[in-house]
Amino acid sequence: MKSISYGTTTIAYKVEYKERKTLAIEVHPDSSVWVKAPIAATHEEIQSRVERRAPWIAKQQRFFHGKPEATVKPEWVSGTAIKYLGRQYRLKVIAGEPDVKLSGKYLKVHVKDKTDESKISGLVNTWYLKHARIKFEERLQLLQPMMEHEKLQLNSLMIRKLNKRWGSCTKKGNIVINADLIKAPVHCIDYVLTHEVCHLKYHNHGSQFWALLNKYCPDWSKLKDRLDNFNV
Ligand SMILES: [Zn+2]
Repeated sequence: MKSISYGTTTIAYKVEYKERKTLAIEVHPDSSVWVKAPIAATHEEIQSRVERRAPWIAKQQRFFHGKPEATVKPEWVSGTAIKYLGRQYRLKVIAGEPDVKLSGKYLKVHVKDKTDESKISGLVNTWYLKHARIKFEERLQLLQPMMEHEKLQLNSLMIRKLNKRWGSCTKKGNIVINADLIKAPVHCIDYVLTHEVCHLKYHNHGSQFWALLNKYCPDWSKLKDRLDNFNV
């Protein structure tokens, strides 16, 4: 694996030497970067091409799965805005035995020490993860008929804190969804799940991939726009 620096990030890439005349760069849905190079290409030639294409690569890596950065770090005190399934709630910190519950317009967090922000953030994040697991699996169930019809094999659904992406799909059929997606409206969750499920069949963003996504999620571009402008 080789890499170049681009801005504050590093772009890692793999090189495949092939019987071909020109050099091609591909960005796969798992964010990996592949360079298909003619056998005679030198390391310097490949590297300078990757460097020149870095803005495009970074855009590809972010474009379809990209998630905007959180604008401000939350303060874990009463009044802080809490997003859940596209709705906004307020955090209410109450002294008591550790517990988290959605109630009316509030996410009520009981904690022994109301000033212990790391404990509060831990409780809230555990609550988010638990509900992400329940909701994502429930929404994935709705895609079952599609998966059967298209003969798509999902190996596992994983939920992780991802920094810059909403989801990814590996060639082995493992789908990873960003836990923060639980903050977004349910239709946006459906879009990301459908998008990643389509990658079980096509591991690229080629025309067949879009045709499949269009078939099962005709509103995808509107939903994607919504997610692009969604701050967690
Ligand atoms: Zn994709």
